[in-house]
This record gives sequence, structure tokens and C-alpha cells, in this order.
Amino acid sequence: MSTVPKQILILGGGFAGVYTARHLEKLLRPEEALITLINRENYWVYQPMLPEIISGSIGLTNVVSLIRRLCPRTNLIMREVEGIDLNKQIVTISPGFRPRQLQLPYDHLVIALGNVTNFHGMPGMIENAMPFRTLADAMALRNHLIHVLEEADVEDASELRRQLLTFVVGGGGFSGVEVMAELNDFVQSVKRNYLRLRSEPHRRVIVQAGTRILPEMCETLATFAERILRKRGVEIILNDRLKAATSEKAILQSGKEISCKTLISTVPSALPPVLQSLDCAKERGKLLVDTALELRGYEGRVWALGDCASIKSVAGTQVPPTAQHAVREARTAAINIAAAVRGCRRVEFRFEGLGTFGSLGHGAAVAEIFGVKASGLLAWFLWRGIYLMKMPGLNRKVRITADWLLHLLFPPELAQTKLAFESAIRNQHFEAGDVIFRQGDLGDSVYVIEDGECEVLCERKGERELLATLGRGAYFGEMALLSDRARSATLCARTAMDVLIIPKADFNKLRHSVPAFGNVFTELAARRAEAGSPHLFADPDMPGASPGVPTGASDGNSVQRALFPH
Ligand SMILES: Cc1cc2nc3c(=O)[nH]c(=O)nc-3n(C[C@H](O)[C@H](O)[C@H](O)COP(=O)(O)OP(=O)(O)OC[C@H]3O[C@@H](n4cnc5c(N)ncnc54)[C@H](O)[C@@H]3O)c2cc1C
Repeated sequence: MSTVPKQILILGGGFAGVYTARHLEKLLRPEEALITLINRENYWVYQPMLPEIISGSIGLTNVVSLIRRLCPRTNLIMREVEGIDLNKQIVTISPGFRPRQLQLPYDHLVIALGNVTNFHGMPGMIENAMPFRTLADAMALRNHLIHVLEEADVEDASELRRQLLTFVVGGGGFSGVEVMAELNDFVQSVKRNYLRLRSEPHRRVIVQAGTRILPEMCETLATFAERILRKRGVEIILNDRLKAATSEKAILQSGKEISCKTLISTVPSALPPVLQSLDCAKERGKLLVDTALELRGYEGRVWALGDCASIKSVAGTQVPPTAQHAVREARTAAINIAAAVRGCRRVEFRFEGLGTFGSLGHGAAVAEIFGVKASGLLAWFLWRGIYLMKMPGLNRKVRITADWLLHLLFPPELAQTKLAFESAIRNQHFEAGDVIFRQGDLGDSVYVIEDGECEVLCERKGERELLATLGRGAYFGEMALLSDRARSATLCARTAMDVLIIPKADFNKLRHSVPAFGNVFTELAARRAEAGSPHLFADPDMPGASPGVPTGASDGNSVQRALFPH
């Protein structure tokens, strides 16, 4: 056996990724394997309890656990996975404070990136429908609900008030039903705090594509759930689906329109973009694995599990995308990775599910465990008891129990957590000698000099060559951004300077929406490219440059003209 520890990379810190790391920590010694997990957050989200954030029956941070504490022997990298090269066995992750991507080689790879809500082909949904998967989604929805209630309380126009008090959820599966149940409880219980809304009716609608809600459950329990929801005033539209949306309404496939200011969509789902472009076998839009959870064509090296994988158990049943399955898949994957490291025999995925639960809020749930059905209060106690038991860590269990008890005693919190979303376009100050970006960095922003001067330096074999000096009104940084390549020079402040930074995403948005703005930069980049190195930054028409010094920045006036054409 090799004495060099194997590099195991786990992509995704959800149920599948975190539980794989936990099992691997138990199965492999540090000298056998180094485990690294990459996730965009440093916490793991207990999604089954996420809807309770809406009503405030669980505090915001109590449905999450820190990955570093759950997996103490795993190296956590809190970044975005941007690329996977299955042939070269390299994963590329996003830059951090330093604008350089990281490339991580691996011996064994676990892909557990879950899935995303997919609004492709549904006009207006990205702009107007709220997804519900992450802690940020839950916070955003809660804040939005408080906002529309506050507005409805002020608004005199009855049509707008009706719109503000209409809540539509797309998807009648577990998450759609649970979101609606919690939303309904919340609105119902806080309405009394609004003088003008106390007697005002509010409308809530579930739109479900199938013939019944909760298709994951047997018909009797689904019918029970439907009856409870209808009794609480929820309209259920069956055999229809969301087709499009505007800021004023949800538009259904049947042509029906629902005038509303709150639209939440829990369906449909798709692979995260980084996996959509992955060149490997797929089935039903997911990564195809065998019963040992090995990715087709990459057996022994790559495993895929959780919501992003299409898995069949040994019995041949398609494995549903649930947390209880993801946790068991993690165990199978970890055993098989340990077997690959040690050259032992692998196991197959055999778990067929213990049962299903769905909370209907307000002391009611539906449950089916080992074939035994329960509904109402008993099922609700079972739901809470079992999910609490499954939450890892005594700390979180105690906090959640305390939250539930307090929620029984006191009315829900109604404070809006206002997050000031500043534009990503921002100002920055540099002191003389500060490096703005380095040669070789990833092109992530364009810069406009508002005050001061900077130097364009080309670094070669440890030597620095001054290419240009740029002054007030000049702009730079577009070349790497337009051509998607690394910076070809280092930019260093010569004096104290203030700059306007336009990040790549905003730059691209402006470039596509305001062609004149884009043209300024495209033409400049073309001139700079034509001039070539060492006069890479040369621009003969550049008024913002110091006289006699070759430079490539453009004048601030032309940016303004492009931004604000006459
Ligand atoms: C509201 C809701 C309620 C649910 N209720 C239940 C329930 O009651 N019972 C049940 O069994 N199941 C339930 N589920 C389903 C269950 O939560 C999922 O099946 C389970 O979370 C899947 O685990 P996963 O690890 O595959 O994906 P996820 O838990 O989604 O984890 C994926 C992780 O990958 C990260 N990630 C994704 N892309 C990138 C990237 N490019 N770079 C870095 N990180 C990335 C994400 O941030 C996330 O942390 C519910 C789901 C939702 C949304």
C-alpha cells in the first residue's frame, strides 16, 4: 500500500457531503487520506426544518451547524466550485480575497452539490419568483413577507392591497406544502398586529402539476393534508403549473393569472451549472452512478450522491432526493472510498427508505413509517421528535427545543432583518505603493480612476518595467475581463488614489444592456491588443495618461458618455 496519503475531495457541504466526510473520518486514518470539503458556506443546513424559519418557530441560525465542528478532521474550503476536470483529476475553485482561482488535484472525488431551482424557459420567474432551498432564501422570504404586510397596512388602493395579501407557492410536494403551511401560520398570527389588516382577508394558493399534492405519500395521507390545508383557507390548484411571472402576477400554464406580490417556487430543479457542463453520463438530468455510487466511466475515482445523482438501489428502485437517503448514500460512498484506498471489496446501496413525513404546521402533520400511517397531532409530535433526534449535536437540539417552547408561549417575532444590499459597483481608496491587482490575477473587475495616479508595471524575470502612468478619468482592467484571461500587468498606486470598481458581473450586465458602454471597452481592448506587448496598455487617444508615457487607459468622459448617452 502507498505511504502517501490519498487526497479525497468532497464537493458540497449538504447532507451527502458532510455525512461522507464524517464517515470517512471514522473509516480512514490521517496517514491514509487527507479529506477536503468545498462548500460555498461554512455551515450545513438542516433543510427539513428550514420552512420553520418563515414562522420564526426556530431561530435563524439554529437550523444550521458549523461544518468545522461536524467534521473536525476535514479541511474545509469555503469557496465556490467553478470547474471539474474529470480526466486531469483537478477541481478549480473560485478566487477569494486574492483574485486567483485555486486548482486542487484529487485521487478520489465525491460530487455532492445538490440541485438548484431551475426557471429556464419560464419568463419572468428569475426576476419575480423566490426559490426556497437555502438559509438565505428562507431569510429573504421572511423579510419579504414582513415587507408586504407593512405595505398592505399602509396602502389605500384596494387592488394593490389584495395583491400584497396574496401568496402563491409553486409545487405541492413536501417542500411546497411545508412552506405554505408555515407561511400561512405566520401571516395568520401576525396580522392582528396590523391595525388595518386584522379583518382583511388574505389569499394563499398552491399550484401543483399533478392530480394531488404530496405525490411522495400514499393517497389517504395526501387527501388528509389537502383537507387540512383547505380548511385553513389555502386554495389548491391541481393539474396546472407556473409558466411565467411578472412583478404583478403569476401566470399558469392553463392561462389563469393570479395577481400577487409574493411568488415562491419549489420546483422544478436542475443540476447546479458547474455540473450541467460536466462531460459524463447523465440520466433524468442527473449524474448517472452505479449501485456502488461510482460515476459511470470514472469508477474507483469519482462518486456522486445526494440530489445531484441518479441512483438506483440494488432492488432497482429509483432513489428519491431526500435527506434520509442522502445520509445513507454518504455511508455507502465512504465505505467504498475507504475500500478503494485500501484495495478492499465495495458495497452496494440497499436502503429503501424508512418512511415519509410532512408537516402541515399548527400542530398537524402526516407520517408514514414502516408502512404505518399517522396524521394530525400524533404525526406532528412524531415529526418533531424524529427530526430533532436526527439533528446532530446537543447544542442545536437544546436550542431548537427552547425555540419551540418559546414559540408556544409568545407571539412570533415581527422584526425585519434589513440587509442593505449595496450595489456591487463600489468605491475604493488606495495609498501610494498599494497594489491594485497583480500580473497573473484573475480579471474580476474594471477600474475607473476618480482621483490620483497609478502605474502599469510589467513583471518579467523578477524585473519590473513601467509601461504607463494613468491619471484621473482613466480606466483599466477590461482586457483580462473581456478575454477571460489572467491580468497581463501589475497595477500599483503611484499616489493616494480613489477608484470606482465595476465587478465582472455588473460590467457584463451593462455591456449587454447598454451596447454603447460595451463598445467603449471593446474598442479600447482591441486597440491595446493591436499595440501588443510591451505597449500592451498603449492608447494614443488617452487623455487621462501622463504626457509622454505610453498608456492604455481611456478618458473618463467617454465612460460617462457611454453610460449616459444623449
Ligand atoms: C425546504 C425543504 C424541505 C425538505 N424537507 C425534507 C424532509 O422533511 N425530509 C427529507 O428527507 N428531505 C427533505 N428535503 C430534501 C433534502 O433536504 C435534500 O434531499 C438533501 O438536502 C440533499 O442533500 P445534498 O447533500 O444532495 O444537497 P444539499 O443539501 O442541497 O447540499 C448541497 C451543498 O452544495 C453546495 N454547493 C452547491 N453548488 C456549489 C458550488 N458550485 N460550489 C460550492 N458549493 C456548492 C450548497 O451550498 C450546499 O451546501 C427538503 C428539502 C427542502 C429544500
